[in-house]
Amino acid sequence: MAERIKAVIFDWAGTTIDYGCFAPIKGFIEGFKSIGIGITDEMAREPMGLSKLDHTRAIARMLPSPIAEEEIIEAYRVFEQTMFESIGDYCDVKDFVVDTVDALRLQGIKIGSTTGYTPEMMDRILPKAAKQGYSPDFCAAPLNSIKGRPYPYMVWNNLIAFEIIDPREAVKVGDTIADIAEGINANTWTVGVIMGSSELGLSRDDVERITGSELQARKDTVRAAYYKAGADYIIDDMNELIGVLADINRKLAQNADRKLLTPGPLSTRHSVKHAMLTDHCTWDDEYKEITASVCHDIEQISANSDYASVLLQGSGTYAVEAMINCLNGDGEKALFLVNGEYGRRMLEIAKRAGKNYDCLEFGDTEPIAVGALEQKLMQDEGISTVIFVHCETTTGIINPLEDIAKLANLYGKKVFIDAMSSFGAYEIDMPALGIHALAASSNKCLEGLPGLSFVLARKDLIIQSQAQSKSLSLDLYSQYKELYEGSGKFRFTSPTNILLALRQALDEYKKEGGLQARKLRYINNHRVLVDGLKELGIKPIISPENQSYIITTFELGDLSFPTLYEALKQKGFIIYPGKLTDMPTFRIGNIGDVYPSDMLSLVATIKESIALAYVNA
Ligand SMILES: *Cc1c(COP(=O)(O)O)cnc(C)c1O
Repeated sequence: MAERIKAVIFDWAGTTIDYGCFAPIKGFIEGFKSIGIGITDEMAREPMGLSKLDHTRAIARMLPSPIAEEEIIEAYRVFEQTMFESIGDYCDVKDFVVDTVDALRLQGIKIGSTTGYTPEMMDRILPKAAKQGYSPDFCAAPLNSIKGRPYPYMVWNNLIAFEIIDPREAVKVGDTIADIAEGINANTWTVGVIMGSSELGLSRDDVERITGSELQARKDTVRAAYYKAGADYIIDDMNELIGVLADINRKLAQNADRKLLTPGPLSTRHSVKHAMLTDHCTWDDEYKEITASVCHDIEQISANSDYASVLLQGSGTYAVEAMINCLNGDGEKALFLVNGEYGRRMLEIAKRAGKNYDCLEFGDTEPIAVGALEQKLMQDEGISTVIFVHCETTTGIINPLEDIAKLANLYGKKVFIDAMSSFGAYEIDMPALGIHALAASSNKCLEGLPGLSFVLARKDLIIQSQAQSKSLSLDLYSQYKELYEGSGKFRFTSPTNILLALRQALDEYKKEGGLQARKLRYINNHRVLVDGLKELGIKPIISPENQSYIITTFELGDLSFPTLYEALKQKGFIIYPGKLTDMPTFRIGNIGDVYPSDMLSLVATIKESIALAYVNA
C-alpha cells in the first residue's frame, strides 16, 4: 500500500532541459533529407517522446508512400550523427528545475529519469546538465533490447534502482503524450508540463513574440491533449510540482490502510473496490446477466425458488421502507416488535405511510420477549404481520428469530424482518422458519459497498402487492416485474459500479467458504475483541446469550469518546459512538474485511490509548 511519494521520474528534453524540445527536430529533418525526403517541423515533432528509432519509424508512416526499412535505418543514422554534432547546444536546464529538485531531495525523494535519447546521447547530455546543477539519481535510456515509450520498462528500471514496491509511490513528469502513456502503463502518477514542452513546441522567442491570447489558445490545446491522455495533474511550470506532490501525499494518506470497525460501510477487499473500475451500460446483455446472477446468489443464501430478491437503489432503509409499505396490504395490521433505533425507524416508516399498526416496545438492552408477543397475538386477532429487527445494530443485541417466527406462524401471521446486519452471517432459512420477507443491503455482512439494498420475499406476496405501492421508486412489484419478467433491468438508473462490486463481494463470499466460514471468522473476531477488552476492564453491556457476533456495545466508563476515537484513528482504527441515551458507551463492529489479528492489534492499541482518554487525565 502506497504511503507517500518516494520518487519523481522526469523526462529529459522538453521537460527538464531543452526548452521547447528542439534538438531532435533538426536531426529528423536532416535524416530524412539524406534519403531525399522533405518533412515538416510538425511531422518531425508529432511522435516526440518515443525512442528515437521508433520515432523515425513513426515519421516514415506519415509519408504518402511507404519506404524501405534500409531507408529508415539510413535516415536514423544521419539523425544520430546530426544529434551528436548539435546536442551540446540543447542542454539548457529549464526554469525552476534545479530549485524544485533540491526541494524534492530535502523531502527524501529520489530523482529518476527516462528518455527517448540513446545512452550515447545521454553520455553527452548528463555532464552538461550536471554543470548547471541538475543531476538525477538515475537515468534509463532505451537500449535496443528494451522497448521505449509507451512501454513502462524504463520506469520499471527506475523503480528497481530505488527499491520501490508500489508504483503509486512514484510520479512520472513529462512533456509529451508518450510520457503520460509511459506513466499510466507503469501505474505511476502522471504530470504533464505545458511551458517549454514539445507538445507546445514554442521556443522562448516564440513565446515572447506571439500575443497573450494566442499563447493561451495553444496552451489550452496542450492541456486538452494531456487531459485526454489521462494525466493526473497538468502544470504550467515546474515550480508547481511541490504543490502537486503535497496533494498526492494527501490522497495517499487518505487511502491509508484503515480498518472501519463500523457496521456498514465497512472495510472491503481491494478486489471489491477494484470491480468498480468499469463503466457498464445497463441494457447490455452481459450486465443483465450479472444482475440476474446477483439476485440468484442472494436467494441461495437464505431462500429457495419460491422467493425473489428485488434489488433496489439506495441504502438499507430504502429496502426496509419498500418492504413495509408494499408487502403490508392496506387492510392489514402490522405489529412491530421494537428494541432499538432501527425498530423505531420502522415504526416511523409505518406512521408516515399511514399504515395500520401496533407495537410492542422492549428496553434497548433486552431481547424481544416471546411471552409478551404471545399475549399480544392472543389479544389482537387483527394482526396480520409481525415485523422486527433480527440483529439490532443499535446495541448489537440478537433477537430470538426462530422463536418469534415459530410463534407468529402458529398464529397464522406473516413474518417480515430487518436482517440488515445479520444477512449472510447468520443462518436464516426463510422457507423453514416461515419468514415471508427480509430486507438487507450490500454493505454489511456481504462486504460489498453502500448504495444497493434488496428485499428478499416470497414471490406470491410480491405479486399480490401489485398496485399496492404509493411510492413510484420504492414499488417492489414493479421493480420485480422489470427485473424478473421484463427487460432484466432496474427500472431507473442502476448503480452499475456498486452492483459490479456486489458481484465481486459474492464471489469473495463463496471463495471464503460461504456463510459457515464467514460466520466463524466473525465469531472469532468477536471473541478476540471481547476477551481482549475484558482484560482492560472494558465490558460489553449486553449479556453474552443475547449478544451478536456482529457489533458490540461497550461501557465507556470514564473515558472520553472523542479522545479515544482520535487516538485510534491515528493508528488506523475507526470505531463507532454508542447510541444508548442513558449510559456512555462506544461500539465496535467486527464485520468486513477484518480478522482476529486485526482485533488483537485493536485491543493493543486501545490499551496504549486508554491512558490518554480518561476524562480526568
Ligand atoms: C445498517 C442498518 C440499516 C440500514 O441503514 P442505512 O443507513 O439505510 O444503511 C437498517 N437496519 C439495521 C439493523 C442496520 O444495521
